[in-house]
Amino acid sequence: MAEVEKILTSRIGTKSSSDIDSAMQNGAYEALIKALTKMTPEQVLNEVKTANLKGRGGAGFPAGIKLSFLPKDKKSIKYLVCNADESEPGTFKDRLLIENDPHRILEGIIIAAYAVNATSGFIYIRGEMASGAKILEKAISQAYERHFLGKNIMGSGLDFDIYLVRGAGAYICGEETALMNSIEGKRGEPRTKPPFPANYGVYGKPSNVNNVETYANIPTIIEKGGSWYSKIGSQDTPGTRLFGLSGHIKKPGIYELKSNVTLRELIYDFGGGILGDKKLKAVIPGGSSVPVLKADEINVTMDIQGLKKVGSMPGSGGVIVLNETVCIVKALLNLITFYERESCGQCTPCREGTHFLRLLIENIEKGEGVEGDCEKILSICKNIMGRTICPLGDAAVMPVESFIKKFRDEFEFHIKEKRCLPETFKMTTIFSE
Ligand code: SF4
Repeated sequence: MAEVEKILTSRIGTKSSSDIDSAMQNGAYEALIKALTKMTPEQVLNEVKTANLKGRGGAGFPAGIKLSFLPKDKKSIKYLVCNADESEPGTFKDRLLIENDPHRILEGIIIAAYAVNATSGFIYIRGEMASGAKILEKAISQAYERHFLGKNIMGSGLDFDIYLVRGAGAYICGEETALMNSIEGKRGEPRTKPPFPANYGVYGKPSNVNNVETYANIPTIIEKGGSWYSKIGSQDTPGTRLFGLSGHIKKPGIYELKSNVTLRELIYDFGGGILGDKKLKAVIPGGSSVPVLKADEINVTMDIQGLKKVGSMPGSGGVIVLNETVCIVKALLNLITFYERESCGQCTPCREGTHFLRLLIENIEKGEGVEGDCEKILSICKNIMGRTICPLGDAAVMPVESFIKKFRDEFEFHIKEKRCLPETFKMTTIFSE
């Protein structure tokens, strides 16, 4: 079994872990104190760069480089934004951190603020996460009371305030520019890029948006050094990742593991194998918006290079397991219905394309598909991919293309026989919409 390393979850499971006293007894804010008293902002930024910390929201962009795009001078107004709008189906890792160790997230954001001389930040939390918002609110007020937030933090000269903003429950607000519009009180619609957020972000000021898990890694990087961190796990995605296992798995939940764990180890060693001791049919390895894998493609590491070998991506770390009883057509219908509903409607390929994809897949599922439907679906996918304002278009297309390509026989069976494969049954919901 792969070795376990606890970085992000080391305090989770301790008594009252979300409370500042308990968190501080277990090391919270020590990295911040180290940064403020022993390091310059440049040194802090360099440690994050050396660590090669990759963004954990899905895109995997190096967090240190992204931070360095911001102007560093004290005069220019800039904003740090923590994206806590976790709403990708099958993804529930940030919620674990928010509810159980909010001070790790706050500490990471404050350290990043010191690195780039930012004076204000936002945490944008998904509207449905009401309990998480309350926990964060309390954690923020505790951090103010202990002088880890506010004016002249710990006598260092750093002024930094954090504002908690609750979303209204739209998946697209997890996209960084839609999120910024939503913070400003506008409709949560993505902006065209360029200009990029580092130049024109919240209220038109330079901004940096990073995911909850990304920020939560920063205290350990400062405490142990970027070089130490860069040697954990795989070279292309150093550190650990929070993998959320769901679907037909015996032990669903969040597992903190090095990213060079294999998908097979994750499912069988940590997840205990397939529910009902059935055969594995398919896995979506990184949230709902990455290409699906077949059962014979799981001997790969869960890092960028490993999953690239089988044509997929680590995405948000949500691993959705489907056993042999799943009707693959119904599963895809479930996914595309989600993307159709969550499209903001600004661009035609995404708005109309996801709609037509849903209609075609629904027809196949109902037994009303006709010969040539699979080709039509692939052609629509081609016309959406890369032709939209934001990545939702691509996110909708990647699972569709891969489901059709890898399970073409099952789609053709549905079209010809007007029913599911005999070994499958009509699936109930296993995607957390
Ligand atoms: Fe909106 Fe879809 Fe276009 Fe993104 S790709 S801007 S969600 S219509």
